[in-house]
Amino acid sequence: MSLTRRDFVKLCTGTVAGFGVSQMFNPKIVHALKKFVPHVFWLQGQGCTGCSVSILNSVHPSIAEVLLEVINLDFHPTIMGCEGEQAFEFMFDQAKEQSGKYVLIVEGSVPVAENGHYCILGEVGHKEYTMLDTTLEMAKNAAVVVNVGTCSAYGGIPAAQGNLTEAKSVGDVLAENGVKTPVVNIPGCPPHPDWMVGTLVVAIDAIEKHGLEKGLAEVVKLLDADGRPLPFFGKNIHDNCPYLDQFDLDSYSQVFTDKEKCRYELGCKGPLVYSDCFKRKWNGGVNWCVENSVCIGCVEPGFPDGMSPFYEPC
Ligand code: SF4
Ligand code: SF4
Repeated sequence: MSLTRRDFVKLCTGTVAGFGVSQMFNPKIVHALKKFVPHVFWLQGQGCTGCSVSILNSVHPSIAEVLLEVINLDFHPTIMGCEGEQAFEFMFDQAKEQSGKYVLIVEGSVPVAENGHYCILGEVGHKEYTMLDTTLEMAKNAAVVVNVGTCSAYGGIPAAQGNLTEAKSVGDVLAENGVKTPVVNIPGCPPHPDWMVGTLVVAIDAIEKHGLEKGLAEVVKLLDADGRPLPFFGKNIHDNCPYLDQFDLDSYSQVFTDKEKCRYELGCKGPLVYSDCFKRKWNGGVNWCVENSVCIGCVEPGFPDGMSPFYEPC
């Protein structure tokens, strides 16, 4: 079954007959996309590996289908079998062979203090590679850089107040060093697996249809001013929240166990936040932050400082 780009955008935002709604990239869709299987390299810098854990929990498609059918994952520090110098050499060799055609995924921010030495990823021939060196080296010949998680997208927790390591977002580091590769941000602490897999699927579909350059240009058209794909990050949480009628009535929960009223006075940052959590939900579509706690605004560029204190009204 072949799908149009419009179908994929609909899949991100709603329904397409036969494909379900939330956690939506089911096997039929994955199998519809088999012509272009990009080489993907996944770097981990200053982060907690939570974004990797999140994508490993992808439901439809399962992570096995993503790895075996959607992408060709050549490097991932947590899940690859190879390690050390051999793995690093392989990554650089493959990147050379696939120059201009591969996808670089980055998880974690990039510390630049002390010439990047707060985060060393590996060593080849007795030369150390910091996160800073490796990100620049791998990004310059990538077709696209995809930042997963708020740390790589906007600096996130490592770049919060204090920031002794001078952690920066990948976009800032690339701009400061003259690397012009297109950048897509998929923020979240962590990002939803659908946001990561869905963005890859949309990009692969566009490249299959229009070729590499024009396909990527189509993907860039889907981004908001903060580099996020609008199908996932185009709607305000508060405007679409099931508690909005309670907010309009000034009816607020005073304790987390009160699930009837709006969570604003408990610190909910929904009015400041753009993502589709209200509809997509988490854990296979079972629940979401506002239902049991509050939205802390993890997908926004100012997170966490701009959303603190988490449990006080904005
Ligand atoms: S403040 Fe939070 S809980 Fe209340 S309506 Fe807005 S998003 Fe929903
Ligand atoms: S509801 Fe808010 S805090 Fe929870 S994942 Fe979505 S954006 Fe982040």
